[in-house]
Amino acid sequence: MDMGIRGRKAIVCAASKGLGRGCAEALAAEGVDLVICSRTNAEIEKTASEIAAEYGVSVTPVACDITTGEGRAAVLAACPDPDILVNNAGGPPPGDFKDFGLDDWRQAVEGNMITPIALIHETVYGMMGRGFGRIINITSFSVKAPIPTLELSNGARAGLTGAVAALARKVSPKNVTINNMLPGPFDTDRLRNTSKAIAEKTGKTMEEVQAARAAENPTGRFGTTEEFGAACAFLSSQYAGYITGQNIVLDGGALNATI
Ligand code: NAP
Repeated sequence: MDMGIRGRKAIVCAASKGLGRGCAEALAAEGVDLVICSRTNAEIEKTASEIAAEYGVSVTPVACDITTGEGRAAVLAACPDPDILVNNAGGPPPGDFKDFGLDDWRQAVEGNMITPIALIHETVYGMMGRGFGRIINITSFSVKAPIPTLELSNGARAGLTGAVAALARKVSPKNVTINNMLPGPFDTDRLRNTSKAIAEKTGKTMEEVQAARAAENPTGRFGTTEEFGAACAFLSSQYAGYITGQNIVLDGGALNATI
């Protein structure tokens, strides 16, 4: 299926690997030109040249921390008028409520709530003026079912979800949509790092921990970045104009709810 977005321009944040890269690749496969960012210069340059070589689109790498004002300015300078914006950043660290100080909360809110709001604010009105826009926020299934060890993430991402809920309806008459993608367990470095920490704590091997975690999921496996990217490309497509303000859970059915 041709998504009808060939020649469009997208910003994909935090995209040298993992879910962000999955989205970048799926958009590139649809002929979308990209500006991608992540903090490590060598990694983002390598990813950009690999995607450009594979899909024949323009891919501009920006090495920056997207959670800073300077980082966002650098990305917007490279692409001031995107048609598609995929908001993403690293997640806040795990821990327990009693150990978090206010600065931990401020940092989590800055990274996972204020940063996407700032990028939306800078781009959504241009999208409305041009009559096309697709904004996707990568959040987490923790917005629907809180993860006890990730309270910073639960809070900041829920804040973003609330912040864009009304806006998604306000901008929709101009063919601009805003949706949130809520990943469950996907096979990325972040998930592997948490498995490594569990293995070190429990004395189990990494393979045992990964196998047990995969077995907990109704599908018996983790999601892939290709699956995540394909869903992002559809939500970014010309056919997704009637899907807005939604929180789309991609978790292999892990969230056990009837509706
Ligand atoms: P990942 O595989 O570790 O990749 C993270 C990517 O983001 C890397 O390219 C990293 O590159 C970049 N990045 C991190 N912080 C950044 C920053 N401040 N500015 C710019 N780039 C940054 O992680 P992932 O699994 O794809 O996770 C992406 C998001 O989804 C995270 O917020 C995560 O918490 C959330 N999530 C993931 C899962 C899952 O199962 N994978 C589930 C629920 C939620 P640099 O380090 O070089 O900057």
